[in-house]
Amino acid sequence: QQEMKAQGRNARDTIQHVHIIGAGAMGGGIAAWCALKGLRVTLQDQNPESLAEAYKHANGLFRDKLGDKRLAMVARDRLTPDPEGVGLAWADLVLEAIPEKLEAKRQLYQEIEPRMKSDATLASNTSSIPIDELARGLAHPERLVGLHFFNPVEKMLLVEVIKGDKTSQQTLDRAMAFAALIKRVPTPVNSAPGFFVNRVLTPYLLEAMIMFDEGVPAETLDAAAEEFGMAMGPAETVDLVGLDICLDVAEHMSGLIRGDAPAMFKNWVSKERLGRKTGQGFYEYK
Ligand code: NAD
Repeated sequence: QQEMKAQGRNARDTIQHVHIIGAGAMGGGIAAWCALKGLRVTLQDQNPESLAEAYKHANGLFRDKLGDKRLAMVARDRLTPDPEGVGLAWADLVLEAIPEKLEAKRQLYQEIEPRMKSDATLASNTSSIPIDELARGLAHPERLVGLHFFNPVEKMLLVEVIKGDKTSQQTLDRAMAFAALIKRVPTPVNSAPGFFVNRVLTPYLLEAMIMFDEGVPAETLDAAAEEFGMAMGPAETVDLVGLDICLDVAEHMSGLIRGDAPAMFKNWVSKERLGRKTGQGFYEYK
């Protein structure tokens, strides 16, 4: 704990500005949390609606956590929506949180790597893609690291810090220190599909979805899991994460899990029934 605090203090000298790409459930949450913890944040998204929604969520969080109006305004001033990605050029750490698609992430890295500062760290919030696969094509794979936050960011303390074969020790140390700086608990894990949490969690979620396909109602699955002691049932968890993200994670982890992704996943994702983000998953969200 002492060592983590010291790491966090050192990181404040080297990480002052974070640029986040992707303002969805995760990028928006991480941006708000970083601004709340005193960092300068620029937040980029190709979709203006995602940016507006993330900014609104962040302001709600500042009000709830800081209470004082003036302090909430100070936090708000630290967070800048940045649709053109101007902040990329001077950020100390660039965090990518776009959808769980290998090719889209790689293509984005090709565009952004030449625009980043030469000593900046590139981090991905990927849930399941091995870092070495993401690093292919980078001029500086030693600067890429996985920083896997969980949803909702303001409540979930754990951050998986994932080292690829080429990730340098300096990059890894910086990622660990960054997580400590923003008062999360960094845990180093190896770069295997699903890392630690999703390797354990995904088979559980998919078995529950297979039971749903077999006719067990979502409410029954959720009630049983909650009785057992889980904070949230599997159907609620899938709605929170987003069915599209769950399906992508399941596909990246194929081989480790039983058979194909459950049919209902593919069916609902094709109909944009993605959970909370579209207002309809297993349950309805207003
Ligand atoms: P999301 O669908 O909620 O948001 C993704 C955002 O990225 C969207 O706003 C989209 O407009 C934007 N985007 C897409 N391509 C872009 C590009 N090229 N440039 C700029 N913006 C772009 O996704 P999410 O749930 O926030 O997931 C993002 C990443 O975090 C994924 O890798 C996912 O696996 C991981 N993750 C998700 C969760 C979860 O619970 N949802 C948890 C941990 C990690």
